[in-house]
Amino acid sequence: MIVVVGSVALDKVKTPFGQVDEMLGGSATHFACAASFFTKVGLVAVVGSDFPDEHIDFLTARGVDLSGLETQDGQTFRWEGYYEYDLNQAHTIDTQLNVFESFKPKLPENYKDTEFLFLANIDPDLQQAVLSQVNDDVFSVCDTMNYWISSKPGSLTDLIKKVNLCLMNDSEAREFCQTFSMLESARKLIALGPEAVILKKGEHGALLFTDATHFAAPAFPIEEIKDPTGAGDSFAGGFLGHLAKTGDLSEPNIRKAIIYGSVMASFNVEGFGAQRLVSLTNDEIESRFDLFRSITCF
Ligand code: AMP
Repeated sequence: MIVVVGSVALDKVKTPFGQVDEMLGGSATHFACAASFFTKVGLVAVVGSDFPDEHIDFLTARGVDLSGLETQDGQTFRWEGYYEYDLNQAHTIDTQLNVFESFKPKLPENYKDTEFLFLANIDPDLQQAVLSQVNDDVFSVCDTMNYWISSKPGSLTDLIKKVNLCLMNDSEAREFCQTFSMLESARKLIALGPEAVILKKGEHGALLFTDATHFAAPAFPIEEIKDPTGAGDSFAGGFLGHLAKTGDLSEPNIRKAIIYGSVMASFNVEGFGAQRLVSLTNDEIESRFDLFRSITCF
């Protein structure tokens, strides 16, 4: 099982290919949907009383355990953003934390002995509050975004010191580490504590760094992109989903997990929000994984 804490949101998104309002989104949502193709996921988050039942039904149908999802009086987290032709760059118009402002996560008992924990993009204080409730042997991975890098850098640094693996976008790593170099960013992040760092570069792939090695994976080239929102979280869902499914944390398997992450991100961007995952099948995931091997083998 993987436990995830992060945002469950209603998004308003505009891309060069269309726009959608009040769409199911959030970092924990995109992660849980992608990871649910590999393993059981327990979701820790809060929504407001305005959160539509159909979204609860969708997550339940994907097999996501919602016993850690609270409903509070008030409005659900909302994010509004847009993309221009450079789809790697999300421009935030508005972030309304709403019920997340007063959220005090309390993990269900059966989540506390989880082997895998994903601290998806949300307030680093909340990420730490969840990390402190699970067992010490957990394999923990964190993600973040520029919003938290600029508003809570100290708390984010404390979090990174405690996790096994840190995920970040290239531009976020540059901002957080105050350097242009990806290599130096990775070194600075590893010096804080994590054994490994994955730097995501959107349509240009992802880089894995440990003290001893480096692995570079391209992104899968797709025909038709609609909306990059959630690509990073679906990458994390495929990545950690594969690790949890196999229980193998060896480096060759971590490389394989990065390819599963890239496969899930490539499906996610083919539709708005999590729409593409509604019809996605395990066979489609496996055949894209095989195709990925053939385009990267030389
Ligand atoms: P990604 O495109 O994978 O980086 O994540 C997109 C999701 O992150 C969207 O569905 C948003 O609802 C959510 N999001 C945007 N800003 C924040 C924030 N400051 N904290 C938590 N989640 C956010």
